[in-house]
Amino acid sequence: MNPTANGGDAGGRHPAGPRFAVLGVTDDRDFCRCCGRQGLKRVVWIEDRESGAVQHFGTTCATAPAKSFGVALGVKAAIARFEDAQRLFWTRVNAEYRRRGGRHVPDKGRRGVFVAADPTLKDAITTELRLAGANQGSPDSVAQRSEHAKRQSVLGTES
Ligand SMILES: [Zn+2]
Repeated sequence: MNPTANGGDAGGRHPAGPRFAVLGVTDDRDFCRCCGRQGLKRVVWIEDRESGAVQHFGTTCATAPAKSFGVALGVKAAIARFEDAQRLFWTRVNAEYRRRGGRHVPDKGRRGVFVAADPTLKDAITTELRLAGANQGSPDSVAQRSEHAKRQSVLGTES
C-alpha cells in the first residue's frame, strides 16, 4: 500500500510546511504499514499532517524517495536518538542484572560472545525497566504525557 496514494489530493493543495513529520523511532512494532514487511527491529513513526494519521514504517520505506515522505534526514536523526536510548537502556539492564548478582558466561556456540547466566532474571529486569521507561519515544506515550501534563496544570490552578 502506498500511503501517498490515498490522499486523493490531486487538486494541488499546498499546505504550509512539510506534509510528513517524523515522530520517532521505536521497537514496539515489528512490521511496516507500507509494504507489510515483518520482523523489523525498529519502526519509524510518521505523521501525515494533512490527514492527522500516524503510521509506522520500516526504515527502508520511511526513507525511500519513491514514497515521497521527504523525511530522510528526520528519520536519520530519530534512528540515532533511538540507538542512543537503546544503548543506555541495555547498560541499565546489565548494571541492574549485576547488582542483583547476575553473571555473564561465554556462549557455547559463539566465540567471544557472552550471555546471561540467568536469562530469567535478565528478562525480568528488562521487562521491569521497560515498564518503568514505558516506551518513552512512542507516539502513544507522548500523547499520554501531554494529556497528563494538561490535567496537572488544570489541577495546579485550583489549589
Ligand atoms: Zn515497508
